[in-house]
Amino acid sequence: MLEASPATQRLERMMLQSACDVICEHFSSDKLRVALLRLVAELLILHPDEKGTGLFAVVAVGYIDRFGFGLPRGGGNNLIDALVACLREHGATVRCSTEVAEVVLENGRATGVRLSDGTVIAADIVLAAVHPHHLGERVPGLPQSVVDDARAVEPSHYTGFVVQAALTAPLSFRNRAANDCALVTVGATDLPSTLRAFDDLKRGRLSAKPMLWSTAMPDSSRSPAGKGILHCYCLTVLDAGGTGAAGWAARADSYARAVLDRLAESVEPFTVEPGSTMRVLTPAQHEQSTPSFASGDLNGVGMFLHQTGGLRPTAALSGFAVPGADGLYLVGPFMHPGGGITGGGRATAVKVLADLGLKIQAVAPRRIAVRL
Ligand SMILES: Cc1cc2nc3c(=O)[nH]c(=O)nc-3n(C[C@H](O)[C@H](O)[C@H](O)COP(=O)(O)OP(=O)(O)OC[C@H]3O[C@@H](n4cnc5c(N)ncnc54)[C@H](O)[C@@H]3O)c2cc1C
Repeated sequence: MLEASPATQRLERMMLQSACDVICEHFSSDKLRVALLRLVAELLILHPDEKGTGLFAVVAVGYIDRFGFGLPRGGGNNLIDALVACLREHGATVRCSTEVAEVVLENGRATGVRLSDGTVIAADIVLAAVHPHHLGERVPGLPQSVVDDARAVEPSHYTGFVVQAALTAPLSFRNRAANDCALVTVGATDLPSTLRAFDDLKRGRLSAKPMLWSTAMPDSSRSPAGKGILHCYCLTVLDAGGTGAAGWAARADSYARAVLDRLAESVEPFTVEPGSTMRVLTPAQHEQSTPSFASGDLNGVGMFLHQTGGLRPTAALSGFAVPGADGLYLVGPFMHPGGGITGGGRATAVKVLADLGLKIQAVAPRRIAVRL
């Protein structure tokens, strides 16, 4: 089908190219190339030279141009609280700190879940955030080929490292134009050094000058008047220098200092609010925080061409249902269309409702989006 016209041939070509190929083919300014490929690499958490990421370069830029960046008022926790309140309003019971040991299968149908304390909760439909690597152990009795293919999915090249702090005053970039931007990239502006930085990182070599993203955009819903927030994010890897996830415990503070030193090159001096503690999130902590981030992967599994669309996370699981387990559906960043709060659940909801003979527009007619 893609070979049907010159336009679709161009699309097919872009699909097979890398994000870097597409960006360099269409833009001549080194600075713009670096800005675009860093944006794409941050979203994909893949090396921008990875073949098969080209179309995403076009889609990501168009998506952000069309929808902008959505920031939850009061911070990310408010989004979770709002979702929980919405569920409760519709009659749901939310149980925190309650581990599901496994999904119960009877004659090829999911009939409920068994909690770690042995309690069984019966259900007509089970929606589960089970990472493909854990599918076999969380859903015993699935066809072995489904489990084996799921276990073989590959993680992204990179993961994230975060430093957050309350500041005595708003952060301010020396380049004042950056102060009302939702995402400011700090790092080299020439293509060869940027690509080298991605190369080194992919091989687990951490730089003393990390590539990072930050923002100085004021947000009165998250800090009192006159105060500021520090939020620094940088790409890194779970296994740096062959020390595995465990290596991050010893490295967290020094790497946070490297991140702050790098940021300090671009911003006015800042002071952390006395009595507050700087928060550092390492790849190892991402992995511990939710099973969706297996290997510390914030996209759940890599957004490689062979793990996108009808192949995400595997061909058998790409329909959001699980072969061999009627009534079981998967949600999470590892499903199509990929990581992020915008992606994980809606497509699964569409599928579940369709199986129940409903359309999503019938139950969620309004588009819920905030453009800041
Ligand atoms: C530092 C950082 C920055 C990010 N930035 C952005 C961003 O700017 N924009 C964006 O869109 N996304 C961002 N993300 C990604 C986003 O947070 C995730 O994609 C999103 O949270 C995934 O939501 P989810 O509900 O699908 O999965 P999860 O948040 O993983 O929710 C799954 C839940 O299921 C629970 N669970 C799993 N297994 C079991 C079990 N066996 N028993 C009981 N409970 C279980 C987990 O504990 C978890 O609470 C970021 C992530 C990080 C870490």
